[in-house]
Amino acid sequence: MLDKFLSLFLQSNCPLCQRSTGEIVCVSCQNQLKNCQLNNPCQFWQGKLPLFVWGVYQGKLKQAIASLKYDKHLQLAELMGDWLAEAWLNTSYYKQTKKLTVIPIPLHPKKLQERGFNQAELIARSFCNLTGYSLQAKGLERIKETQAMFSLNSLNDRENNLRDAFVLGKGLQKFRSDSPVLLIDDIYTTGTTTNEAAKLLRSHNILVLGVGAIAIAKK
Ligand SMILES: [Zn+2]
Repeated sequence: MLDKFLSLFLQSNCPLCQRSTGEIVCVSCQNQLKNCQLNNPCQFWQGKLPLFVWGVYQGKLKQAIASLKYDKHLQLAELMGDWLAEAWLNTSYYKQTKKLTVIPIPLHPKKLQERGFNQAELIARSFCNLTGYSLQAKGLERIKETQAMFSLNSLNDRENNLRDAFVLGKGLQKFRSDSPVLLIDDIYTTGTTTNEAAKLLRSHNILVLGVGAIAIAKK
């Protein structure tokens, strides 16, 4: 009786369909989210800046990221960060790299003020809670306001837009750790943003292992 009463009390609305649920998102939406999951999150783990990615930016996953950013359902970042961590813990990379410094891709301060939070930081925080990696939330700073990447067509335009967009943040100015860095972002589109961030870190002799992202936008 008491359990029933408590579970009623702890019900809230699923941020993705408004149905009542005792979890962060309802079971039906969880299943739809898992339909967006990649079978192999390591399929892009190659090249100069390897990418580890949980799912495809489409359907319910696209809705969940939008709901996190624009409707401010911050608990979605916790869920997605958990899932990214669970996928990572199942890889051989985890066994090889027990020490990592995790750095979220920062927002420009003006954008951060508008939104009130950086979704990549929240995802990175949740990822670190499960993996035990150290979070360096102020590892990078964004000093240039950039145009939305989807509005730029050519690779050249995108690179120019991002050039010198980042500087080392306060958290890394005296960085002496020998553990490599994993960058975290919510959506991976062309890789221009994370490439620019990695370039800056590498120019300071910081080892960048790769990028972790929740969703990849496929053309
Ligand atoms: Zn739902």
